[in-house]
Parts: sequence; C-alpha cells; structure tokens
Amino acid sequence: MNRGIVVTGGAHGIGKQICLDFTQAGDQVCFLDIDEKRSAEFAEENPNLFYFCGDAAEPLTLKRFIEFSLEKLFRIDVLVNNACRGNKGILSGLTYEEFDHTLSIGLKAPFELSRLCKDELIKNHGRIINIASSRAFQSEPDTEAYASAKGGIVALTHALAVSLGPDVLVNCIAPGWINVTEQQEFSQEDRFAIPAGKVGTPKDISNMVLFLCEQDFITGETITVDGGMNKRMIYHGDWNWHYNAD
Ligand code: NAD
Repeated sequence: MNRGIVVTGGAHGIGKQICLDFTQAGDQVCFLDIDEKRSAEFAEENPNLFYFCGDAAEPLTLKRFIEFSLEKLFRIDVLVNNACRGNKGILSGLTYEEFDHTLSIGLKAPFELSRLCKDELIKNHGRIINIASSRAFQSEPDTEAYASAKGGIVALTHALAVSLGPDVLVNCIAPGWINVTEQQEFSQEDRFAIPAGKVGTPKDISNMVLFLCEQDFITGETITVDGGMNKRMIYHGDWNWHYNAD
C-alpha cells in the first residue's frame, strides 16, 4: 500500500511479524531495536525494511529514530509501539530506577514517539497501534513494573485517541500468551487452559494490527487477543481446577 510504517522492537517476536506483514502488504517499514545483530540480519532479507539500533528508553534515541525514519520512508502513516520488557516487582525488591526503566520503554517511549510523529500522522490521517498485555487487567504476584507499563499504555491509548481524533485513530492490542520462542509443542494442560485451545502466535497479533489499520470507526479501544484466557472463571475444586496453597 506504500505507507510509511514505524515499529519499535521489530527484530524479534511480535514486532518482527508486524514488520513482515506490513512489507508484504507493500509498505515500507522502519524499526527500532536494541539488538543490533538480529536487526541487521532481519533487515538484510528485505529491501523495504530499515532498522535503527538503539534503546527505546532514551529520548534522544527516539528523536534520532524518527529523523532516520523520515529520511528513509519520506512519510509516516502508522506508528506501532511494540517494544517492552518484563521486570520483577515489589516482592523481589524492584528499585525505583528499575520500575522507572520499564515505564521508560513501555509507556514513556510510546508517548514520546506519538509526540514526535504527531504532525506526520495528522497530515496522513494515520494510525497509532499500541501493544499492551492482558497483564494490564490481571496479575501474577511480583509483576508491578510490567503491569503498570501495560495499564498505562491502555490509558495512553484512549487519551491520545481523544486528543488526535478525527485525524489519527489510536488503538491498542492486549495479547495473552504468545509463543515467540522456537518451541513447537505445548502440553495438553497449557493448551487446554486457553479456551481457544492453543498458545498464540505473533501472527495472531499482527493480523489484528493490520486489521485495525483498515478500520475507520474504532478508536481509543484496547482489544484483548488472548484465546479467551482472561474469560475463564476459576474456582478451586470446580471443573478440575486446583489451587495449590503451598
Ligand atoms: P520479544 O522479546 O520477542 O521481542 C521484543 C523485541 O524488542 C526484541 O527484538 C528486543 O530486542 C526489543 N527491545 C526490547 N527492549 C528494547 C529497548 N529498550 N529498545 C529497543 N528495542 C527493545 O518480545 P515479544 O514477546 O514479541 O513482545 C512484544 C510486545 O508484546 C511487548 O510489548 C510485550 O510486552 C507484548 N506482549 C507479549 C506477550 C507474549 O506472550 N509474547 C504477551 C503480552 C504482551
């Protein structure tokens, strides 16, 4: 389609699949990633793919990334805020600085990139797609930093949608368990714990990214794509669910 697409964390996993799908749709893609080796190998395969190596936690890197993207793409139609990293939480003695670092990658960078791309996105009636997590809505113990970044990006999504509409539509995807490893097989328990009967793939998320870019009446929303995992009600002793209290 010849759009200019900007993606963070594009060298691996979900971000990589998003980059691939946009290039296959005929777009040009520029991605930011901290992993230089993986980025170089990936971009080498594809003439419509450009990478900028750097840390999304650094505001100067983000500014240079967008300058670089405009040099390569000449326009920006879609910003995908995908990069984030897990971190431990309060039970592990997570420090203020470590908590802040996770927010820098997962929440401050999406705001800063939205700000840097704003004029281009308004001009081109573009889209922002944020990647959250089902952990924005439910938690395991000791996950405060990641859960906060993901809860924050859900709120950032509706705030941006209201500020930038109608020119720019802003949506968010909350993935559940997505396999980004080489693992091919999962236990029956793992598969059956998810109502859809499988662990998700990066393609399950990239399909939703491209779908949302085609819509013009959805904005400010967060769409959960988790195979229904968050919908299952669990009571100890019911339906073969057992809570181990040890
Ligand atoms: P991944 O680890 O497979 O890939 C992440 C990519 O981001 C890597 O290439 C990594 O080098 C890059 N990256 C990490 N920190 C960076 C930084 N500071 N600056 C620049 N690049 C950086 O991860 P993934 O599983 O594909 O996750 C992608 C997004 O999806 C993340 O926002 C993650 O929170 C979210 N998510 C993933 C899952 C899952 O089960 N995989 C579930 C819910 C949400």
